[in-house]
Amino acid sequence: FDHRIYNFAPGPATLPEEVLQRASKDILNWQELGTGVMEVSHRGKPFMACYQEAITDLRELMQIPENYEILFLQGGGIGENAAIPMNLMGLAKKGPQADFVVTGTWSQKSIAEAAKYGNARLAASSKEQQFNTIPENANWDISSDSAYLHICDNETVGGLEYGYVPNTNGIPLVADISSNILSKVIDVSKYGVLFGGIQKNIGPAGMTIVIVRKDLIGHAMSITPTVWDWKIQAANDSMINTPPTFAIYLAGQVFKWLKQQGGVAAIEAVNRKKAELLYSILDQSSLYDARVDVTYRSKMNVTFYLKDESLMDKFLKGAEDQGMIGLKGHKSVGGIRASIYNAMPLAGVEKLANYLLEFERKA
Ligand code: PMP
Repeated sequence: FDHRIYNFAPGPATLPEEVLQRASKDILNWQELGTGVMEVSHRGKPFMACYQEAITDLRELMQIPENYEILFLQGGGIGENAAIPMNLMGLAKKGPQADFVVTGTWSQKSIAEAAKYGNARLAASSKEQQFNTIPENANWDISSDSAYLHICDNETVGGLEYGYVPNTNGIPLVADISSNILSKVIDVSKYGVLFGGIQKNIGPAGMTIVIVRKDLIGHAMSITPTVWDWKIQAANDSMINTPPTFAIYLAGQVFKWLKQQGGVAAIEAVNRKKAELLYSILDQSSLYDARVDVTYRSKMNVTFYLKDESLMDKFLKGAEDQGMIGLKGHKSVGGIRASIYNAMPLAGVEKLANYLLEFERKA
């Protein structure tokens, strides 16, 4: 084993090699403690310092204003689909209610989960367009009686990304950024809540980041589990229970790596270049079919189909033979998906680009 392959999996996903090298040492012996990072108390000095550094670095990278709390929780995006309504729906004046814009698999799951806790209103949907676009913001049916409006900023399955901050008629905007957190500059002050699991653009599975405006904390329903009550977690450095220490450590290492790359704006420029390279090939092709509305194409998950679907296995096998894996589309939609998160180097995308051209030539 002398080289790593290019892994285009949607998450868990490829991580920066330098970070993994460093982690492999720290797993055995962290900070010369004679014991590994996974084996020390979350309340001890070394780990608390590591946690604080991760919080500080994330705040710096995303320029998170001081009136926002950063929580490191568990339960993933699916968990937050329940935690968010439980923490926020109580803010609605006439009983628990929130609005949702459904643009694919993940926002569909969010509205379904929220319906367990209150009135989950459909403000807009692109289901009739096979989730290949985002409904025009001006046409959303937003209720001023709703506690918040939920969007999925990047639909990982469909390969659809907003690229702008929608208008919500003044109610707080909640955005699922599981698959594009830290991939581009985000104006945090425009959102009430930003949340996502870290297993795509940051680290291993097991940790969920919730960035929440402080005035939105403290309204949880009485049924809210303690581990998901933002007020309790905020008052306890997200350690009311044992936190996912290794995930926090590794996320912290990735934050440092990202700072070394020049930060979010610098990686955004690379991400744009990577995505444009693939889309430009898809657009000129008579074999590949990229169906997402050009305006809303994701820079993280590039999805497309083979016009001749019988070539699918050959395509995937050929890619694997050249050291590229994880390209099979989600089972619910089929096709091909190249997930090109921050840690996927430009060289990996160039290799895939060449393969796309070569495969079409030979097809
Ligand atoms: N939201 C988005 C946008 C996702 O991509 C995913 C995972 N693929 C989820 C939510 C669910 O996250 P988890 O599996 O961490 O609960």
